[in-house]
Formats: sequence, C-alpha cells, structure tokens
Amino acid sequence: MDATQYYRASAQEVMKKLDVTPQGLSEFEVQLRHKEHGYNELKESKQKNAVQVFLEQFQDFLVIILIMAAVISIFLGDVESSIVIIVVIVLNSILGTVQHIKAEKSLNSLKAMAAPIAKVMRNGEILEIPSREVIVGDLLILEAGDYISADGRILESYGLQINESSLTGESLAIDKMAHIINETDVALGDKKNMVFSGSFVTKGRGQAIVTSIGMNTEIGKIASLLDSAKEKKTPLQQSLDNFGKRLAFGIILICLIIFGLDILRGRELVDSFMFAVSLAVAAIPEALSSIVTIVLAFGTQNMAKQNAIMRKLPAVESLGSVSIICSDKTGTLTQNKMTVQKMYISEGIFHHDQLQTKNPLHKKLLDMALLCNDSILSDDKQIGDPTELALVNLGHQYDMNEQITRGLHQRVGEVPFDSARKLMSTVNRMGTRNIMITKGAVDILLPRIRKIETSKGAMSITEQQLESIKRATHTFSSEGLRVLAIAYKDVVSPRISTEDENNYTFVGLIAMMDPPREESAQAIADCIEAGIKPVMITGDHKITATAIAKQIGILKDPSEAMEGVEIERLTDEELQNKVEKISVYARVSPEHKIRIVKAWQEKGHVVAMTGDGVNDAPALKQANIGVAMGITGTEVAKDASSMILTDDNFLTIVKAISNGRSIYANIRNAIKFLLSGNAGAILVVLYATLLALPVPFAPVHLLFINLLTDSLPAIAIGLEPHNKKLMKEKPRNIQEPLLNKKFATQVGLEGLIIAAVTIIAFQIGLSSGDPLTGSTMAFATLCLARLFHGFNCRSDQSIFKLGLFSNIFVWIAFLLGLSLLNAVLIAGWFEVATLNHAQLLAVYGLAFIPLVIIQLERVFFGKDE
Ligand code: ATP
Repeated sequence: MDATQYYRASAQEVMKKLDVTPQGLSEFEVQLRHKEHGYNELKESKQKNAVQVFLEQFQDFLVIILIMAAVISIFLGDVESSIVIIVVIVLNSILGTVQHIKAEKSLNSLKAMAAPIAKVMRNGEILEIPSREVIVGDLLILEAGDYISADGRILESYGLQINESSLTGESLAIDKMAHIINETDVALGDKKNMVFSGSFVTKGRGQAIVTSIGMNTEIGKIASLLDSAKEKKTPLQQSLDNFGKRLAFGIILICLIIFGLDILRGRELVDSFMFAVSLAVAAIPEALSSIVTIVLAFGTQNMAKQNAIMRKLPAVESLGSVSIICSDKTGTLTQNKMTVQKMYISEGIFHHDQLQTKNPLHKKLLDMALLCNDSILSDDKQIGDPTELALVNLGHQYDMNEQITRGLHQRVGEVPFDSARKLMSTVNRMGTRNIMITKGAVDILLPRIRKIETSKGAMSITEQQLESIKRATHTFSSEGLRVLAIAYKDVVSPRISTEDENNYTFVGLIAMMDPPREESAQAIADCIEAGIKPVMITGDHKITATAIAKQIGILKDPSEAMEGVEIERLTDEELQNKVEKISVYARVSPEHKIRIVKAWQEKGHVVAMTGDGVNDAPALKQANIGVAMGITGTEVAKDASSMILTDDNFLTIVKAISNGRSIYANIRNAIKFLLSGNAGAILVVLYATLLALPVPFAPVHLLFINLLTDSLPAIAIGLEPHNKKLMKEKPRNIQEPLLNKKFATQVGLEGLIIAAVTIIAFQIGLSSGDPLTGSTMAFATLCLARLFHGFNCRSDQSIFKLGLFSNIFVWIAFLLGLSLLNAVLIAGWFEVATLNHAQLLAVYGLAFIPLVIIQLERVFFGKDE
C-alpha cells in the first residue's frame, strides 16, 4: 500500500503498516527515520556563499570600468596608483561582503525564531517541535488554529474541520473523520479521512498519523522550488533603488561633462577617464539600499531580544507610523492568570473560600467545572487555558483532582470551545445517564436556561431567579471579574452538536479575576504621549472590560465602550463615524475585528491589531501591522501576522513601535550622511572644473574617501541607540516620502558647507604654488569634514543633548578613519604632499567648521533643545 492509498485502510492498519503504537514513536525510532526519510521541508533554492557574495560586489558597472582603467594605466606606467585603486576596491568589496553576510545571518536567525511548530505525541508525551522535525509515523495532535505540517491519515476526529484552500482552492472548511473510504480514484478534496500539509484546522480537534513529509506531500508535489532565499525588497528599499538610479544618472552626466572639459583643456585621456570614473564611484551612493538592509537586520535583531519577532521586513517601516493599537485584553493587557474569586448558586453569592464540598449544590458546580474542562495541573505544571485552569486550581484547593473526577465520569462526547460561540460542551457518563455539561458566557447561556438546580433538585426557573442571576453577573462584572455560567441537561446520544446547546438546567456562576499586567498602565500612558490611541477589543463582557480599561487608562467614560451586537447594527459608514470615540469593544467576535480595522484605516490611520485565534487571521492580514501572540496564539494567527510577541505583552508592542521609529530615523540619518558628503565632493570638483583650476583630488583620493567615509560611518549612524524624543512626537505620516523637501534642503545645505570648507582648504594649498599641496589639503579636509559630519548625522538633536558618547560605533568609525587618514598623510602614500604645521592646522580647523555650524544652529534654533 503506498501513501496515496492510506485513505482506503483503517486507522489501525495504517498504524501497523507504519509500525507505530498509540504512544507514538520513541526518540531512537525518530532518529532512525530522520536518517531514512530526511526532514519535513520543501526544497529551497540554495543561499549564496561568501565567494558568490564577494564576486557580486564587482558586478557594479562603474567598478568594472574603474578596474579596466586601472589595468590600462599599469601598462602606461602608472603602476603605483593603479595597484592602490585595485586594493581599495577589493577592501571595499570585502567590507560589503562582511556586511551582507552579517545582515543575512541575523535575518535568518529571525526567520528561525518565527518557524512553524507542530504538536506530536512521542513516547506517550505531547511535544511541541519545529515542523521540519515531523517524521513519517508521528502522531499529530490537531486543534483549532493549527497548521498541518505533513500529510496524514486521521485517527480521531471531534468535530474536526479543515481549510484546504491552499491545495484545492476551496475556501469552505471540510468536515474530517476517521472512517475508511472504500473507493478508488478519490479526488484530494474528498479524502475526508486524510489531512494535508499546508491546510489548517478551523474547528474541533483530532489526531492523525503522518504518512508523508516534505517533497512527498501533496503540496510538495505541486510546489516548485521555493525561492525563499530571495527576500523581497521593502517599499523603502524600492524607492531608494529608484532614487539611487536617477541620482546615478545625474552624477554620470556631471562626470561626463567634467571628462569632456578635462579633455578640452588638454589633460591626458586615461587620467581624465580615471578621474571621471573615480568621481562617479565616490559620488554615487551605491550603499543606499544595503544600508537599509543592514539597519533593518540589526534593528530587528534588537527587537527580537525585546520579545518582538518581525516576520515581514516591510512592516518595520510602517511600525513608526502606527497611530492605533487595537489590543486583546486577556493576556495582553492582563496577566492571563485567572483565579476564582466568587461564585453564585440558587442560594446566593459566596466567596471562593466558603465553598463546601459537602453541600451537594457546591459539589455539583465544582464537579461540572472540572468535567467540562480540558486543562490539567500535574506536578505544578499548568497545561491548558487559563480560564479553565482557574477552575482546576479551585478544585485542588478543596482536594479535588480533575483527573480523578474525569476518570469517574468518562467523557463520551463534546463540542469544543470557540470564541465566536463563547460556549463549550461535553457529555459525561454519570451512572447510567449521559449528562451534557455546558459552560460559557452568561449572556449567551442564560437565554437557553429552562430550569435551575436547587437544594430540592431541578425546578423550573422563575423570572425572579433569572433577575437574581443577572444581578449577580452585573455585580461580579463591575468588579472587573470574568463570569462563566455552568449548566447541564440529560441527553440520549453522546453525539452532540451546537444544535443541542439549549434547554438547560442552571447550576451556577463562577467569577474569576485576571489582574492587569503591572506594566500596562505605563505602556498605555506612553502610547498616548506618542500620539497613538490604544483600543481594547475583547470577547469578555462589556462591564468587565470597562472596569479593567478604566484601571489602566484606556477609557475615561463608559460611553466609550461598545458591544459586538451594536457593531452589527451599524453600517460601515456609521461605524467609521463612531470609531474615533470608542476605546473598548466588548463581546466581539473575530469578524467584528476586521470591520474595526477597516473603519480606522478609512479614517487614514495606520493600525496595529493583535490576535491569537484562527478566526483572527483575516483581521491580522487586513491590519497594517498584524500582531500575533507567541504563547497563546495559533499557528494560523502567527502565519497571518507581521509581528509575533513572544511574551504576549502589550508593552512589547509599544516597544516595537518605538524601535520602528528609531530604525526609520536611523535609516534617514545614515542616508543624509551619505548624500550630503557626496554632494560636498561633487560640488568641490564642479567648482575646480568650472574655474579651470587643477584637479582637487586624485582618483585614489576619491576612492579612499569612498572607502573610509562612506559605509562605515553610515552603518554606525544606523546603529544609533533609541532616542526617547521619538516617542514624544506624533506618528510619522505614512504618505510622506523619506526624501521630502525638508530632507533635500538639509542635504543640500550640509553638502554646501562641507564643499565650502574643502574649497577654502584647496585654495590655501594652491596659494603655496604647488597643485599637489592643494589637492592634498582638499582631500584631507573633505575626508575629515565628512568624518566629523558623522556626529551631526546621528540625529536632528545636538550631540550634547544626545550624549557625546552614547553611540560608540560612530566613535569607532571616526577614530578608524582619522588614524588611516593620518597614516596616509604622514607616510606620504597615495599621491599626497607633506603638509607643514600651519597647513595641517588649517585642514583640521576647516574640517571642524561644519560640525560647529550645524551644532550651534541646533543649540540655538533647534525645536526641542
Ligand atoms: P480577548 O483575548 O480578546 O480579550 P477573551 O480571551 O476575553 O478575549 P474569549 O477567549 O473569546 O475572549 O472568550 C469570550 C468569552 O467566552 C469569555 O468572556 C467567557 O465568558 C467565555 N469563555 C472563555 N473561555 C472559555 C472556556 N474555556 N470555556 C467556556 N467559555 C469560555
């Protein structure tokens, strides 16, 4: 029987064929099978190695021409400068390669952190393992929101529904079951006892045995090579690439003119050519897009250390523009550590430590709370949903063990909890009876109650009793407590569905506390200061949500809260008109979330939205920044998100936004550094050419400046630590291009100042009568001025405000540049003249001027000094 025929065999036959027990594979067997079948991964095209990356650095058209020019000039006798040029180019390429590999490494480790996981049963234990380690014969545990990581035959299904749209195109979920299909030639979509890699569980739960992995799965057969090595460029990189191309075109034009003028004035052809090409290499900011990659790579690495894993790089650029954060309550703003506080039965309210297990009503409430419950507490390990764990913990307080209770009353049927229905039901054997127990939101369960359990047995419920339950619910909710109702009924067949969830006997209410996280109130305050509106979206009751929202500062007035049913009554337009006034949405279903996101987006906002469940995926995709919960989130939610919070904490979103703002500012500053320095160089050459002065720089000078004062200081600026000032500003307008008018003016002015001091130095040198002294002074001044200018470009603030030593990388780049420049000047390499003390002083003094002017301007005229 080959893997495609497993649907025709019984579950037991498949287990036997694949040699697996119900306990799953042993670790030893797993190792053996990995050796035989390999790993569960689709083939990807290979990543480039270091040599390939290094050689790619030479693909630049201008560099090739420059090398050719250098080789020609070797033959013409100018060996020294040609060798220097080639050495500088090689050094530059090594630098580029190292940067590229470092950035790639850090992006890869980020990818590994966001890799999908699978739940499997091995050696009788349920383990969470990376999907790539799933092997043929593994028993997959499937729950709502899980991605299916390999093809498999279903062993058990409890209302298991699976969305196979990625394989079949069918967007509706399909019911899956374990029985044999006795037909041949069954289409993929009809193999209802099989699951396929790439699909996901929308509802229910089940178990399947893995029959094929990796390229042998159905999706593996249709997928061609995945080109994951090729990361798509971010919008900013694309626009910088476009800008870079236009700029390069302009610079080449200028270089051509300079070349023409040089020839007309009788300069040697090879010299003129070499000069023009060197100028082009030095002036074209080829590093633009790679600076973005490097800053993004290091920035996202930093964010991962602070618990935010970016799954999509372009999202980092929009993070700084987020103006709305729609956040779940439970676990994100609160601790998700529920403890039962109070309870209610027909006899009235009582406190959790007043529970009496001898009182049959109390006992029934507790028994049912433990039976209609999937969570367990073993050896102090809490496994399962916090709401349910609160009930299990309550049991332990009274020496009632959930496993023993569940052993006494076997579960024979169930409809799992889902957050849209807000109910969970089980059928348990109690003596000879099948009892269906349901727990869930009070407002959903109460209308389905017909009887109430009293000390005299089940009685028809009266209006008064209903009122009393509602009053108790209101009291609990206003204290910020989550309230669950528990009810039951007799059923004949254990095969229940949602249709059976009615005609209940009410047993009681259980109210639990989930305190806000300590850091939530401060994080909310920080958000508001940064011009970001926090919005709470919760499945919980409106009164509970309002109470918590008030405590942490999200809401001031109860009129700012709205319920899911109210959203349903509003048209999209009406919702848009109201959305700015609402801070808390309660009792929402995942479908409401998408409407809330869209309403804010229509109002021109950039929205971050959190989510964890399978139904949250569309809203996570719609939001500008979909934020998935790393701990409680489903794989489907993670897959739809652009960012994963490894600690499920609201504060982490605020930190990520703050990092996003920093990264954007750092990229802008690094680009400003590159462009203004290059503008300076071009202006000096233009000046000399137009006035028919001797050349201000030898080609090797230009390349030396390019090597030392280009990418190293730019990267150092890109690593500027986070500036608190950024979270006191309004969010950046996402429509505003990075290279706007203000930016261009700054670049132009700063370039002009750098050019001016270089020209003065050049003229001083020329006045000595020796053109070589002139060009040496121009070269040294430009190089130094750019190195000093690196300090200007760290921020818009003055360096005193920033802290002179708060970015150590800028100092390293500066000192390295300074030492090498001095080494060149002292040793007299690279066609430089020996400068006397006065000339050296002039070089240092002039190069320092742009730093002084720009810093003084900031101290006296800066907005926020
Ligand atoms: P959010 O994380 O968006 O703040 P939530 O976790 O409060 O939402 P859900 O988990 O969707 O919301 O729960 C919604 C409601 O369903 C709860 O208010 C509660 O009444 C009920 N509920 C929650 N968990 C369970 C459960 N395990 N069994 C039965 N009912 C539950």
